[in-house]
Amino acid sequence: MNFEAAATLRPRPLIDPFARAITYLRVSVTDRCDFRCVYCMAENMVFLPKQDLLSLEELDRLCSAFVAKGVRKLRLTGGKPLVRRGIMTLFASLSRHLAAGDLDELTVTTNGSQLGKYAGELVAHGVKRINVSLDTLDPDKFRAITRWGDVDKVLAGIDAAQAAGLKVKINAVALKGVNEDELAALVEWSHGRGMDLTIIEVMPLGDIEESRLDQYLPLSMVRARLAERFTMEEIDYRTGGPARYVRVKETGGRLGFITPLTHNFCESCNRVRITCTGTLYMCLGQNDAADLRTPLRASESNDALYAAIDEAIARKPKGHDFVIDRRHQRPALKRHMSVTGG
Ligand code: SAM
Repeated sequence: MNFEAAATLRPRPLIDPFARAITYLRVSVTDRCDFRCVYCMAENMVFLPKQDLLSLEELDRLCSAFVAKGVRKLRLTGGKPLVRRGIMTLFASLSRHLAAGDLDELTVTTNGSQLGKYAGELVAHGVKRINVSLDTLDPDKFRAITRWGDVDKVLAGIDAAQAAGLKVKINAVALKGVNEDELAALVEWSHGRGMDLTIIEVMPLGDIEESRLDQYLPLSMVRARLAERFTMEEIDYRTGGPARYVRVKETGGRLGFITPLTHNFCESCNRVRITCTGTLYMCLGQNDAADLRTPLRASESNDALYAAIDEAIARKPKGHDFVIDRRHQRPALKRHMSVTGG
């Protein structure tokens, strides 16, 4: 093969219609979870039939196709990624892209309950930082939010992760009347343990049993309240995700805010998401999607897959338009966060 021919076969990098380079892929490896957080899922969720799921080998091939097309950061999420059987083999195989220098970061978002079991293996597979979702330290509130979770198990998981050398960032969703009085304490607790904290606005994704309006707490209010207690200095630290960070002078730690509603951050979006069935969502907050499972399974060559990815990225929308107010009480999207991957 001559060099010119080889060059035409090189997968093209992913640039969307708004000139944004897509360098970050989030993969929901399962829609199942061992918790049922009230803002995320209904109590009796119907999960996808297991036979619809991509195999771990197929997920590897799909992720690797994105890496070949310029993705530099991969986050495995869910549902609950660490409950998918054999998931460590996926981390192990994807770590070859880190070793080859084709990937900057392989990471995971987890509710923490399995970290006691897997923290050491994650480190062995090149994972350096992880996100752990934790909305409260109060055992009763934790049980109420997750419907049956045990906060001590999560705390033990965080201990294990830190002991294994993982850098842990805590993600907390701000919930009106539930954890709003605790957020300052969460800042102190996280920073006291050397962990960054990111506070997230609740998003109108999927049917849940409660009204979103009852849950929604604008982060502009959270921030104003935290400012009564802490001095927050703007910093330009970025992790490639949507959070905007400040340094809390009193603790020395970093505090991030993810504000999809009060301040739309779509202009700098570098992300797309794949579900465990191989559906590509170009925006967390829109319905348009592309089926990648069919081209993936159609041939051993990646050509059809690359073409399907290119076609989808060419339709990446400018952004989402989430609204939570009295007139918009239905979910903006039917899809739960656990399907698309948080
Ligand atoms: N189960 C894992 C966990 O808890 O980290 C990974 C998936 S979970 C869907 C990822 C993140 O999405 C969690 O931090 C969760 O709190 C957040 N999340 C879920 N539903 C949300 C919603 N409607 N609005 C905002 N954040 C949400």
